[in-house]
Amino acid sequence: MDAIRYELKHICKQTGARYGILHTPHGDVETPIFMPVGTLATVKGLSPEELKEMHAGIILSNTYHLWLRPGEDVVEQAGGLHQFMNYDGPILTDSGGFQVFSLGKTRKIKEEGVYFKSIIDGKALFLSPEKAIDIQNKLGSDIIMSLDECAPYPCTYDYMKKSVERTLRWAKRGQEAHQNWEKQSLFGIVQGGEFTDLREQCAKALVEMNFPGYSIGGTSVGEPKEVMYKMVEDAIRYLPEDKPRYLMGVGNPIDLIEGAIRGIDMFDCVLPTRVARHGAMMTSTGRININNEKYKYDFTPLDPNCDCYTCRHYTKAYLRHLHKSEEIFGKRLLSIHNVRFLLKLSENIRQAIQEDRLADFKEEFLNQYGHDVYERAF
Ligand SMILES: [Zn+2]
Repeated sequence: MDAIRYELKHICKQTGARYGILHTPHGDVETPIFMPVGTLATVKGLSPEELKEMHAGIILSNTYHLWLRPGEDVVEQAGGLHQFMNYDGPILTDSGGFQVFSLGKTRKIKEEGVYFKSIIDGKALFLSPEKAIDIQNKLGSDIIMSLDECAPYPCTYDYMKKSVERTLRWAKRGQEAHQNWEKQSLFGIVQGGEFTDLREQCAKALVEMNFPGYSIGGTSVGEPKEVMYKMVEDAIRYLPEDKPRYLMGVGNPIDLIEGAIRGIDMFDCVLPTRVARHGAMMTSTGRININNEKYKYDFTPLDPNCDCYTCRHYTKAYLRHLHKSEEIFGKRLLSIHNVRFLLKLSENIRQAIQEDRLADFKEEFLNQYGHDVYERAF
């Protein structure tokens, strides 16, 4: 019996997007959903109570960072990640592969795994498919990822073919190493870059292995948006309808909509909290920077259409003042808004799917937010 189960509730007649419910050991989550990123077992600046209040359904934490600090044994002895960070909702962890592969020249990829040096103390470390699963078994997250190679973009067909084949062998090894199928569901990750036939090969082979869910990786690594959307289409057409699909590392507002239209159920991105700490804010009428002089005497909320704690209680003038004074509370308030913005957008997407009008919703959104959202990071 798998730890999680996906229940398909409705398909949008206008777009084919899916509305569903993801049943997990730590509660049900409506999809499509944006997952806030809590890299080091904390969504930077936000308490679990605040995450609840803004209706965060499932959050993500990073295996690589927790492995290095404080170490998976500390989390295990604390009773697992939920207990350690006092979050009783569902948690997903990645495999650590993305961070390790981002290290560039300092890491060596071998058949057995990846050799690299710790960013904290320079110590030599080794991450294998089995190790990635072992760490995540100790973390105790509801959904875990198999170790894959996130190849750079662009890369040659030959390199990608070899990489995909290795990723598939690693997926098999991870599957064999996994200990807790009743408590933690392991996802396979579709790689293959921009090559249609490699995406097909990878997706079909993973489906053959019968994972409880599937991720699409190797996106959001510098490729143009139309290439990313094609990667999603190339992978998703082979994935079963009764399993959840997760698009990794993608959380630009328009990508949530375009991804949902292509059948994606889950998204994550570290950007909303990262950029909020620099004053870059998403609002229903487009992106603004709270540092701007024009907000000095602006006593209206950040986004009049937002229901978050920040928008209900504070003005742009106050938020600008806190931000310019580098007050911690300012960073918290701005993070609350940006995370809630993407959660609210997920809610609107789900409603539009249920009303068979997601294409209309996309037009309305773009007319408000601005069509340049396709060219920006978010
Ligand atoms: Zn708000």
